[in-house]
Order: sequence, then C-alpha cells, then structure tokens
Amino acid sequence: MLRPALSRISVTTYDVIVVGGGINGVGIARELALRGHSVLLVEEGDIGGGTSSASSKLVHGGLRYLEQGNLKLVWEACRERYYLLKNAPHLVKKLAFLLPVYKTSSRPVWMVRVGVWLYDRLSGRHRLGDSGWLSVEETIKREAGILRDGLLGAAIYQDAQMDDARVCLETALQAQEFGAIILNYTSVITVNADKRRVNSVQIRDVFSGEEATLKATYFVNATGPWSDDVLDLLTPNAEKLLRPSKGVHIVTRKLTKDHAVLVMSRSDGRVFFVLPWGEQSMIGTTDTDYKGPIDSVSVEQEDIDYLIRETALQFPDSQLTSEDVVSSFVGIRPLLRKKSGLIGSVSREHKFSWNRRNFLSVIGGKYTTYRAVSESAAAKIHVKLSHRVFRSLTREMPLFGGDQIEANYEEDAVMYPVSKEIYDDVISRYGSAYRDVLLTLMERSDNCECLTGTTYLKGEVVYAIRYEFAMQPDDFMRRRTQLFFTKGQGASCVHEVSEIFARELQRK
Ligand SMILES: Cc1cc2nc3c(=O)[nH]c(=O)nc-3n(C[C@H](O)[C@H](O)[C@H](O)COP(=O)(O)OP(=O)(O)OC[C@H]3O[C@@H](n4cnc5c(N)ncnc54)[C@H](O)[C@@H]3O)c2cc1C
Repeated sequence: MLRPALSRISVTTYDVIVVGGGINGVGIARELALRGHSVLLVEEGDIGGGTSSASSKLVHGGLRYLEQGNLKLVWEACRERYYLLKNAPHLVKKLAFLLPVYKTSSRPVWMVRVGVWLYDRLSGRHRLGDSGWLSVEETIKREAGILRDGLLGAAIYQDAQMDDARVCLETALQAQEFGAIILNYTSVITVNADKRRVNSVQIRDVFSGEEATLKATYFVNATGPWSDDVLDLLTPNAEKLLRPSKGVHIVTRKLTKDHAVLVMSRSDGRVFFVLPWGEQSMIGTTDTDYKGPIDSVSVEQEDIDYLIRETALQFPDSQLTSEDVVSSFVGIRPLLRKKSGLIGSVSREHKFSWNRRNFLSVIGGKYTTYRAVSESAAAKIHVKLSHRVFRSLTREMPLFGGDQIEANYEEDAVMYPVSKEIYDDVISRYGSAYRDVLLTLMERSDNCECLTGTTYLKGEVVYAIRYEFAMQPDDFMRRRTQLFFTKGQGASCVHEVSEIFARELQRK
C-alpha cells in the first residue's frame, strides 16, 4: 500500500491524531472517521503488531471475571461477543469450552455449575446456547484425551475465537475507507506541549528515518502496554498508569478434537486454555508481572516448561514435551495499575485519562470490548469537536469483509482459475472482500499458484502488500496469515514470500 509522503501530510491540522495501531487505536480512528472528522493514525510497527496479535484470540465474557465479582465487564463483553460474531462472521467463530472438575479441584462442582449458569444468564439475549453439566462419560466422549483420574464431570459453555490480527487489520481498513490516514511503521518520537495543551507530535518513518511535525486539535494515546512510555514523552517520569503483565502462548500438535479445555494448574491454581487452532493446539496463557522494557519481552524456557508440564498433567496420554512446541508468542497485557495483589486478580477494565486538555490516554481493557471502548473514547472527542450528540453506529455494522456473501463458484471459476477448495479458503479468510483478492489473480498467472507447502495463493501476498498495509515478509507470515505459527514456521515458502515483497516494493 502506497504510504503518503510525510511532507504532504504534515501541511494539514487534523481533528484527531491517534497514536497506536492496535485494536483500540484503529477502533477509535474508525469511530471518529465515520463521523466525518479528519483522522490520522500513527503506528510504530505493523498494524496489530503489538498486543493485538498476541492475545488468546478469545472473544469472551471471561468466566473467571465472575469470580472477581465483575458482572458489568462480563455482561458488556458477552454483548460485544454477539456483535463481533455477527459483524465479522469470517473471522470470529463460536467455540465450545469444557471445564473439567476433579475430586481435588479447588472449585467444587456446585460452584462451577452456578458460575456457568450465571454466565449464561448475564449473556441474556446474546447467549450462545448449549451450556450445562456433562457426566464423566459425556466428558470423555467429547474429549477422550483429558485426565480421567478423579474426574467428576465437566461444565460446558460457549464463547468465541477470532483471528485477532485480522480483526484489527479489518478495523483499520474500515477506518481508512471512512477517510482516516493510516501510517504504519511510523513512530511518535516527541510530544510538544505547553502546560494546558498538546500542540503537535514529531513522527519518524521507521525505514527512511524521515521526520515530520504533525498538528491536531485532539490526540489519543492508544499505545496499550507502551502507554506509560508515550506519557513519559509528555511529562518525563510521570506516574505510571499500568501494571504490565507478560503472557506467553505455545503452539503444539493437536490435543483436543474441537473443544477448548480449561486447565487448572496444579502448581499455582491458575487457569489457562488448551485451544483448537486449525490443525494444532494453542496453549496459554501465562500471566506474570513484567518490569522490563516492553520491546524486549521474550518467551523464556520456564514459560514453555510451565505450560507443557501443566498441560501434560491434564492430557496424560499425550506425552507432551517441549519437543512438540511448533512455535510460541508473547504479549504484554496493558493492565491498570493496582498497588498490590496477584497479577491474575488485576482488573481487565479500561480507564480514560486526560493528560492535557486535548490529550486522551486509553488504558487497559480487553480485546473483546474494543468496539465499546472505542465508542466511549470517540464520544468524548466527537462531542467537543462537533457539539453534537454521539450515537452508536458500529454496533450492527459489518466489519470490512463482514458483509453477507453470495458466492457462486461456477460463475467465478470462469474468471478466476482456482480450485473450489482454494476458492472456499479465500472466502473464509477475506469474507466479502474475497473478490478483491481474486482480482489480483488476473494480473499474473503465477499469482494463482499456491505458496509451496501451503494453501495460500501467491496473489494473497500481492494483495497484502497493496491493500493490507503489509511492508515486510514477517507481516504476511505472522499477521495477514498465521503461517509462521504452523509446523515448520512457514520455512517452505518464506523465500517465495520475500521475493514477492522485493518485486512489489521495487515497483513502488
Ligand atoms: C497474553 C494475552 C492474552 C490476551 N487474551 C485476550 C483474549 O483472549 N481476549 C481478549 O478480549 N483480550 C485478551 N487480551 C487483552 C487484549 O489483547 C489487549 O487488551 C488488547 O489487544 C490491547 O490493545 P491495544 O490497542 O490497547 O494495544 P496494542 O495492541 O499493544 O497496540 C498498541 C500499539 O501502539 C504502538 N505504539 C507504541 N508506541 C508507539 C509510538 N511511540 N508511536 C506509534 N505507535 C506506537 C505499538 O506498536 C502497538 O501496535 C490478552 C492480552 C495478552 C497479553
């Protein structure tokens, strides 16, 4: 995608500059652009390249927040889960969860059953159905691999799973459709302010090093775990608003059939998930206090050992070892600062903070509730800019590729020479935007070929570069697709992907 020259975009004073292209930043940019405000979003790396592609990929109310008594968060998240399933059906899918209970479990059967019942009630008209209690036999029938010793049965309930990187990307694409300028690989390096207002920000192109000063009436700091760093640009050594928590996931061979299974760790009582993820399982997350620089966070052997050890206890026949780890990823939860308490008990709620009259920081929150959080943040600015009432517009609005599809393979196959299987794959990835992807196939015959060892078309790489902000092979391997997280980490095709990037970027 051709990025606008910094010299051209720095002549305007924008209504709003959003710093951070994670899910909250792109969500806020979309809300404001939709209402006719001039919006520019600056993202230091790839769109969604921070926490928003390192989550557990669950669109969920969060059963465990019930235990913390946070009914409002659960209620709101269940409502947002319903909207996301409806507005992005190609990226968000319903998923059944099993919560096995054992004689030794710290939560007795009655408590788990009440919890699931309450979770359902809080979902109200947005409930996804099929919840209740399964006997030992029914539990084993559904997931034969789980530990049977001392098993009393399992609670079953429904939530949803998403492609987090692509939900973020499609929200950015929609913001752009409404007129927002999206500048990826561009960093905010200075915030220029007086005592009352922020006047401008200095930005730097990460590749060329070119710099520019951008002015706006309002600024939003939506930098997730980096929020305190950006606030430091405004007020050096400002009081920290976050308590960052590190979360690691590993990807292994498939352990469950088609359910997510909750694992209660024997060593520390924490709960984590074994999730179905394509032909593999995704296991996580850890949740540990993190005090280092956000950019330096990495997966440590002890994180992997913990997840493997506890999962092997829950799935004893699997003989799971660290040899089975196909890939791993790490993210930092931008949790609100709380002086004490275990990290797992820290609230997942969000907070807005005006750090100058026109500089709004959005702190904390969950992916699931991003639309609601983005609306609330945008409302604060919209009302000041336009003096008009703010009404919700995105609740029932399909995401970029979320429109209803009337695909007809026989008709399309005349123009686009791909098998029915590949055709269906493209639709499942891009939803109603699938024809735009297929159009790239017309240009060169090799665009219709699959990348070696995958079901992805070479044309999809071209599409990602031209229309989805991808600027480096890694963007394609990790976030436009999840090839990096499959067995072999996409080694069979990374060379081809790099060649297409070289060819396409040279054209520009
Ligand atoms: C391990 C883990 C599991 C999770 N699982 C779930 C889950 O299953 N479901 C759920 O609902 N939530 C989950 N969450 C929470 C959720 O992922 C986050 O709340 C959400 O992604 C935060 O989005 P964000 O936009 O605030 O931050 P980010 O996605 O981190 O975006 C901030 C962006 O700001 C950019 N940036 C930073 N500094 C600058 C600068 N100076 N200039 C320009 N750009 C800058 C960064 O590059 C980054 O892309 C999980 C979080 C973690 C860590």
